[in-house]
Amino acid sequence: MAYKTVNPFNNQLIKEYANHSDAEIEVALTKADALYHSSWSKGDIEQRLTVLHKLADLIDNQQEALAKIASREMGKLIAQSRSEVQLCAQIARYYADNAKTFLAPVKYPSELGEAWVEHHPIGVIMAVEPWNFPYYQLMRVLAPNLAAGNPVLCKHASIVPQCAEAFAHLVREAGAPEGAWTNLFISSDEVSAIIADPRVQGAALTGSEKAGSAVAAQAAKHIKKSTLELGGNDVFIVLDDAHLDKAVEIGVQARLANAGQVCTAAKRFIIHQDIADQFLRKFTDAFRQVKLGDPLDESTTLGPLSSKEALDMLSQQVSEAVQKGAKLHLGGKPAKSEGNFFEPTILTHITRDNPAYFEEFFGPVAQVYVVNNDDEAVRLANDSHYGLGGAIFSRNITRAKQMASRIETGMVWINWLTDTAAELPFGGVKRSGFGRELSDLGIKEFVNQKLVVVR
Ligand code: NDP
Repeated sequence: MAYKTVNPFNNQLIKEYANHSDAEIEVALTKADALYHSSWSKGDIEQRLTVLHKLADLIDNQQEALAKIASREMGKLIAQSRSEVQLCAQIARYYADNAKTFLAPVKYPSELGEAWVEHHPIGVIMAVEPWNFPYYQLMRVLAPNLAAGNPVLCKHASIVPQCAEAFAHLVREAGAPEGAWTNLFISSDEVSAIIADPRVQGAALTGSEKAGSAVAAQAAKHIKKSTLELGGNDVFIVLDDAHLDKAVEIGVQARLANAGQVCTAAKRFIIHQDIADQFLRKFTDAFRQVKLGDPLDESTTLGPLSSKEALDMLSQQVSEAVQKGAKLHLGGKPAKSEGNFFEPTILTHITRDNPAYFEEFFGPVAQVYVVNNDDEAVRLANDSHYGLGGAIFSRNITRAKQMASRIETGMVWINWLTDTAAELPFGGVKRSGFGRELSDLGIKEFVNQKLVVVR
């Protein structure tokens, strides 16, 4: 059975789930498609927004129970799980409050007549989601699509089936009809067949490049739209005039939150040479103070990686980086005999011919680079296959803004880590993917922006 809950703190198997059968997949598709053709999708938006409001309240009321499921299933620190759950309620409420405005007709002044663009649902969407934010990733797809009227079939990651079930249960409890959100325990091959099905009109994926490429290729083959939110190798630039202690404090958070398993985590620290020694000393001290332990223990500051496979992959990447010439400044290996812990690690002296220079390290491993000036920082930042987020620390906001404009990513934050909120568009360029989630942009990805003209 592919779908399993294994506690990453001790690698104990908690529960296994059987995959859905072909017949069950067919029922799910039929129900979702029927819903799309019903008054639920085509009718008054208010009925759908009422469900989103109720969903937000339910999530708020069940915050603690939901947070515990996530922490046990994928190892997130309990306080971070609570924040994630809270953010989900905010996203549901945000679309409940704003979707009507976002989807209202927009006038287009034209010599050819009275013209406007209407927004209509397009049909069933296939979502493929990862384990690192096991509720938030689902909510980013559910909330805008439910508001717009697109039914969603979701394949969640195989290591978080309890989160997948809990989320689907909440959506139903909030009053969504059957088919509005269907959790499917299915394989990658079955995802491919669903995307090919004529009843499906789009695919949204968050995950690795490999999975993204497979899903987008299948969608393109069948002339369907896709959005991809893939990996990142985000920079965290600290300029010579930065507030150093703040940069260190936020930098540690930016690298270690969620045990470093965040697409927008700060992965490459680019430090101006005038403050490089000081930064590295303080940053190293902060990494040394990290307390590894049970994610459910409030005093733990670094939890385990999500799986044994993730731990093995990160160990291998770090070993290879060092073999190819990187200097191990701190850490560098699995940390405990039990559970998927990796030591907080800092690598320096990474040259361009080292595979680590271009790779994403999905765990608590920081790469530190030293630069002489702003141009060099920008060059290094843009010398990446990825283009997701990034952060710049400087007291000179004009200087930081100029630099932000030159960085080739979908998001740049000044004097803060790359963060997320319901009202802010989220997404990247280059091999970090395409399309945007959240905000007014996110809800327009899977709608028919239909022009109507009266002459
Ligand atoms: P994957 O991309 O393999 O998993 C993400 C989702 O995609 C899961 O639901 C997975 O299912 C599914 N999937 C995998 N392959 C296919 C496919 N060919 N067709 C359809 N669905 C597919 O990520 P991993 O969990 O293996 O993590 C590997 C790397 O991906 C990380 O190290 C990181 O670099 C990146 N990643 C990025 C994330 C982000 O937030 N952008 C989140 C997670 C990972 P299943 O679980 O059954 O394999």
